[in-house]
Amino acid sequence: MRAKRGNPNRFITQTHSRKEAPLPELPEVETVARGLRERILGKKIRSAKLRSPKHKTENPRNFSSLLTGKTVTDIERRGKHLLVHLSENKTLWCHLGMTGRFVEADSAYKLDKHDHAHFVFAKGKSYTALAFRDVRKFGHLRLVHTDELSTLPEIASLGPEPLTISSQDFVALFSARKRVIKPALLDQHILAGIGNIYADETLHAAGIHPQTRCMDIDKTTLQALHKIIQKTLKKAISSMGTTVDNYSGVNGEPGKFQSYLKVYGREGQPCHKCGAPIIREVIAGRSAHYCEICQSIR
Ligand SMILES: [Zn+2]
Repeated sequence: MRAKRGNPNRFITQTHSRKEAPLPELPEVETVARGLRERILGKKIRSAKLRSPKHKTENPRNFSSLLTGKTVTDIERRGKHLLVHLSENKTLWCHLGMTGRFVEADSAYKLDKHDHAHFVFAKGKSYTALAFRDVRKFGHLRLVHTDELSTLPEIASLGPEPLTISSQDFVALFSARKRVIKPALLDQHILAGIGNIYADETLHAAGIHPQTRCMDIDKTTLQALHKIIQKTLKKAISSMGTTVDNYSGVNGEPGKFQSYLKVYGREGQPCHKCGAPIIREVIAGRSAHYCEICQSIR
């Protein structure tokens, strides 16, 4: 596909024919975790119903009996995973997948076929009902033993958290790798929580071409990227995430970070810094959005 602006020959690039749906990343999952903390922390599960046993949920038969009566003791986010810790050494491990979300679902709410589970939490007179809705069914809810979490491959293999890793550790994590930076940033085993939107945005802000090999990026630039990642993720969390498709917080409100996006989803539109058209190109199987002029480090 050819970009419409600028020298056309310069911007010929291979692109996906279909548009890639964005997935909830660290800021969106953190926003959901915060919404859940506000609503259900310290409350007891009054009822838990699994409405579609075919949804990716373990313990479908005794889901209700295992959860009912447990108290929510903590809500943790690890990478893009949500961990709702319960009393009696239980954790409800949740991944939002592509379209998973928690929605407020009190008695006036009409459940539909995409609401795979329904929960009622209560403490004294404070009552919260939530449905887990997942239209595309890539998300999951699994009940696990809390003390076995660290042995679950999906959790145990996660890399460090981008918001807490030190600059020095970040540089050490990437500087020796032969891999290209874009897929390395998306690799949850290296760093947990970053997906396509924030990888594209932070590489643009750091001036790094997405096809640059990690080992070819100098230390100062990696330090700058570390700073930009932390700043961008914090700003996105304070904006309640990015809604490009259908993500929303537990309050049902869309995020606001989409208005700050500089490259993601802006294929063919002028770069805010230099005016050149933003390119969308498939790199390691995923759409990468970048500016060829501003992202010259390679
Ligand atoms: Zn530019």
